[in-house]
Amino acid sequence: MIARIDHIGIAVQNINDALAFFQDALGMKLERVESEEGGRTQVAFLPVGASDVELVEPQDADSGLAKFLAKRGEGVHHICFEVDDIDAALARLTEKGAQLIDETPRVNAKGMRYAFIHPKSAHGVLIELYQRPKTEDQ
Ligand code: ZN
Repeated sequence: MIARIDHIGIAVQNINDALAFFQDALGMKLERVESEEGGRTQVAFLPVGASDVELVEPQDADSGLAKFLAKRGEGVHHICFEVDDIDAALARLTEKGAQLIDETPRVNAKGMRYAFIHPKSAHGVLIELYQRPKTEDQ
């Protein structure tokens, strides 16, 4: 059901400041920086093997991410697991009584389906589930 860790999201105040550590000091490679959620967040992608570290910086003071930063400061924000069937995963979680933030998957600009599980049900960890889009060669 869980295929791998797709990415670890780290909430930062400023991506450029964070890159001074993650890229310059730690030696991770920056792949790209993208605007996401219709401009509400800026995300830097740093691949590590089959997973990414994502540095996420809020662009909107009303976003959940901005509130997280104000309340808890910088740090690990969420872990994203790739699942082979997100509908089955959400159905199983519901059946087991887990609290979901998204009862049905959201779809991003690239057509990828993802959903968040509430940290209350996941021992304090915000978990994102993501299903890789089907490609022709699969
Ligand atoms: Zn994520």
